[in-house]
Amino acid sequence: MEQQISVEGVNIIQDYGSISSATTDFGNLVTGKTLGIIQPRSIEELSLAIQFAKDNHLRLKARGKGYTQSGQSVAQDGFTLDLTQINHICEVDTESQTITSEAGTKWQDIVATTVTHGMLPCVLPLNLEQTVGGLLSTGGIGSTSKTYGPVVANVVDLNIITGNGEYIQCSRTQNRELYNAVLGGLGRCGIIVSTTLALRTIKKYIRTFHLLYDSLDAWMNDQVLLGKSNQIDHLEGFCWTSAKGIRNTISGKRFFAHWLYGLQVGVEYNSTAPYPSDVLKDLNYWQLVHTEDEETVNHVFRYQPRFEMMRASGAWNQTHPWIECFISAKALAEILPEILDMLPLSLGDGHKAIMVASENLPDLFMMPPEDNILCFAILPMAVATGDTKSLDVLEEVNQVLLDAGGKRYLSGWLGRLDFNWQQHYSKHYDTWETMKQKYDPDHILS
Ligand SMILES: Cc1cc2nc3c(=O)[nH]c(=O)nc-3n(C[C@H](O)[C@H](O)[C@H](O)COP(=O)(O)OP(=O)(O)OC[C@H]3O[C@@H](n4cnc5c(N)ncnc54)[C@H](O)[C@@H]3O)c2cc1C
Repeated sequence: MEQQISVEGVNIIQDYGSISSATTDFGNLVTGKTLGIIQPRSIEELSLAIQFAKDNHLRLKARGKGYTQSGQSVAQDGFTLDLTQINHICEVDTESQTITSEAGTKWQDIVATTVTHGMLPCVLPLNLEQTVGGLLSTGGIGSTSKTYGPVVANVVDLNIITGNGEYIQCSRTQNRELYNAVLGGLGRCGIIVSTTLALRTIKKYIRTFHLLYDSLDAWMNDQVLLGKSNQIDHLEGFCWTSAKGIRNTISGKRFFAHWLYGLQVGVEYNSTAPYPSDVLKDLNYWQLVHTEDEETVNHVFRYQPRFEMMRASGAWNQTHPWIECFISAKALAEILPEILDMLPLSLGDGHKAIMVASENLPDLFMMPPEDNILCFAILPMAVATGDTKSLDVLEEVNQVLLDAGGKRYLSGWLGRLDFNWQQHYSKHYDTWETMKQKYDPDHILS
């Protein structure tokens, strides 16, 4: 049973069951030590929790659903600040096409509210169980990112309680430095209390063409082409294994695979479904393997069967050293064969590449400066606990991506050694440090 104590007006959950659920995250690779869970139910209770931490020199670790993979949402000798109960959806403004909601709201609840107005957030993640605040603190990539960029590029405004306890509204034009520091900022400068997000009008149906490529170059060129096309709404790329075998190498026998590449190209429509001869006419794919028609509102839940399968098979509770990295199409085309050859086949296939527009980014959300950026992601369903060989390879792959100019997406597994923040922020590193010092001078959110 949940046990709570009250200290200085702050309710702290301290029973073993609750605490053990917050000692790690989805990655299951980092174990923390939480002193208790503070779960505010209102903005007043949240302010009180920040004041409590300040007065007593304590640390708070913001947490939504805890879907990070390197301990980013795990308290280390501090309190877990569980934000899931601050979850009121305030309103949809159909004129400005925006929705205002509190940070603990799940994306699935945002979807349920906006579809009744024929709209959706400009970008949705593939998993809709995570919280608005958690996703805004990491970035937010989805199949419409080719047009709209990451979710953080579609934030109209934010209400923040900073580490020094101030309640501040910010946007691109008001308190912009805080806006830039909080979006993608892992909760290090302030807690997102609520936000207003831009919406887009949707059409009732979507037709998705599933294309297969036997040429990496053709696949990459088509992604770049489709990334710029106004004719399509959704774009996701994949790397699939086909023939597999075992070959002799100087270090012994090794599995190998022949890789193929896939694209899912989605076009929304109201009455007349788009013809392949229109949408696919300039592409150089090998085969059109499937065409799927469904309601757009169902399409947003298309990954749900995968997550259910991971739960049913036990994969959900194993380790997830996920790597997502922003990288230019040109650089990825050069290093992808090497990466695919390095990856143990036990990690499975379906590695993803999603085009991401790089306009309107918050200043501290790091993407490479080149054109045609993809988010390349290795997201194994599970890696067995203790499989250190796979972790070794993934660390090497990470280095290959970074050496090619990649920038990591910060919710993923950041490796066993200290992450190189200076390299990540490069010329913005001093600004990042200054923002943390300014908005969280007592380091309660570190
Ligand atoms: C199955 C699965 C599918 C995913 N799919 C996608 C996807 O399609 N696209 C994508 O971009 N990402 C995806 N992710 C990654 C996901 O975006 C991040 O892990 C995100 O952090 C999850 O939100 P959360 O509510 O679990 O936040 P948490 O993991 O709990 O927190 C994330 C970070 O934000 C901080 N934080 C949490 N709430 C707040 C707040 N209110 N204010 C300030 N800081 C806060 C935490 O301290 C932490 O640093 C996926 C992850 C999983 C496990």
